[in-house]
Amino acid sequence: MAIDESGERTGQYEPPVAALAERVAGAVITPEQPEYDEARTVWNGLVDRRPAAIVRCTGTADVVACVDFAREEHLPLSVRGGGHNVAGTAVCDDGIVVDLSELRGVHVDPNRRRVRVAGGATWADVDREAQQFGLAVPGGVVSDTGVAGLTLGGGFGHLRRTYGLSCDALRSVDLVTANGDALTASADEHEDLFWALRGGGGNFGVVTSFEFEAYPLGPDVAGCLVFHPAARATEAFQFLREYAADAPEEVSPLAFTATVPDEPEFPETARGEPVVGFFACYAGEDLETGLNVLAPLREFDTPVLDFSGIMPYTEFQRVLDEDYPDGRRYYWKSTYLTGLSDAAIDAIVAASETAPSPLSTVDVWQLGGAIADVDEGETAFGERDAPYMLGIEANWDDAEGDDANIAWARELYETMQEFSPGGLYVNFPGFGEEGEELVRAVYGDNYDRLQQVKARYDPDNLFRANQNITPAPSA
Ligand SMILES: Cc1cc2nc3c(=O)[nH]c(=O)nc-3n(C[C@H](O)[C@H](O)[C@H](O)COP(=O)(O)OP(=O)(O)OC[C@H]3O[C@@H](n4cnc5c(N)ncnc54)[C@H](O)[C@@H]3O)c2cc1C
Repeated sequence: MAIDESGERTGQYEPPVAALAERVAGAVITPEQPEYDEARTVWNGLVDRRPAAIVRCTGTADVVACVDFAREEHLPLSVRGGGHNVAGTAVCDDGIVVDLSELRGVHVDPNRRRVRVAGGATWADVDREAQQFGLAVPGGVVSDTGVAGLTLGGGFGHLRRTYGLSCDALRSVDLVTANGDALTASADEHEDLFWALRGGGGNFGVVTSFEFEAYPLGPDVAGCLVFHPAARATEAFQFLREYAADAPEEVSPLAFTATVPDEPEFPETARGEPVVGFFACYAGEDLETGLNVLAPLREFDTPVLDFSGIMPYTEFQRVLDEDYPDGRRYYWKSTYLTGLSDAAIDAIVAASETAPSPLSTVDVWQLGGAIADVDEGETAFGERDAPYMLGIEANWDDAEGDDANIAWARELYETMQEFSPGGLYVNFPGFGEEGEELVRAVYGDNYDRLQQVKARYDPDNLFRANQNITPAPSA
């Protein structure tokens, strides 16, 4: 047994997990235990890793103990927030999983419009508590996604053009660093770390608590989820381009191609039909104004299905949850777009028509608004000027389909490079197979500074089960 260049153990080695169990209050789950398989399972059914131990942390002290143990024993370490990372980075082989799934508390201070969120919470947890006080934190568009991974990588949701990315709403972060220090990063303390945490992913420590600014919204919102016939897909994306040119910042539309799922909640006549959809909500105060602003998306053609209307914000946030069940096979990639030219639209529509799986979708997210109001150097998040992001979601059920579906997503990603300023959204990274080349492209001019911060807080790269920023070499 030895320790390799990355500081990891090689060869046969039995980590003294019993010693770790004595140092933590939470459950330590090892391969011999019946709950092991369930505990190591994450959302993406393609991911099959076998950690040495999964520690269900009960608080910061457990997190410190796990970080100290992994560092002292030279073991891989991964961090599980909501377990929804597309690349499955919440789990590692042969190492320690810092599992925060029991730390889901949310506390709202309505007077200061601040929401404190524990490191393992989901967006459903946040929406539920914040809506008690008529508030919302900019999250994602599926409620069972983890707050932690999504926020640390940026965070695009329905409020993105109105209030910015999830990481833009952060006001402070409590985290445990690689040497086991529990500290707070904010605009006034550890400013460089706070800068890096807003977009730099899980590279800098384990976040035990986030403090967000929240904004008035709800309880009802005007929401739009409408499916039109796929035969109009080209015109629908062209229509998005026109609509987006004048759209108020209170609306953040997304257009997508899909197939109506073969599920009982959809009318039998529509099931299996290819469609093009629009998805958005209105984040302004007046519901009637919201319905009017969203109406053109609904009236673009005679809808195949229309779920739009006035509904509770918490319900709108959950409307897609069932489309992404745990255990399905997923490979998601993304690229930013410099615009939505006819040629780019043709490429998107052609690829949608040849997707090997009817469960797959291609999504165009309008960006701009509050995202672009923040200077690119102000936070670590890499791309703020692109007007659109393309999400490529390969979703399928059978292992035999792995190669074809992954190849389809990669091919579309390659095709779209001629329409892209480069880089991708770090939370839709495929499997991050491009390694450091990808991470450099994601962060652009911010990468060097991120490497400096990494060298200060994690010089031995303990936190590397992620889209990894390598520490700057010491001078
Ligand atoms: C169904 C679905 C819908 C999605 N929708 C959106 C969307 O609308 N908008 C969007 O922007 N993204 C979206 N995403 C992508 C999402 O942002 C990422 O998958 C994100 O990583 C999920 O976070 P998590 O906490 O659930 O992940 P996990 O798998 O738990 O963790 C992923 C990584 O985040 C880091 N991490 C997690 N918790 C912590 C912590 N407490 N401290 C430090 N590091 C931590 C670690 O590096 C870890 O490897 C979606 C993903 C899915 C699966």
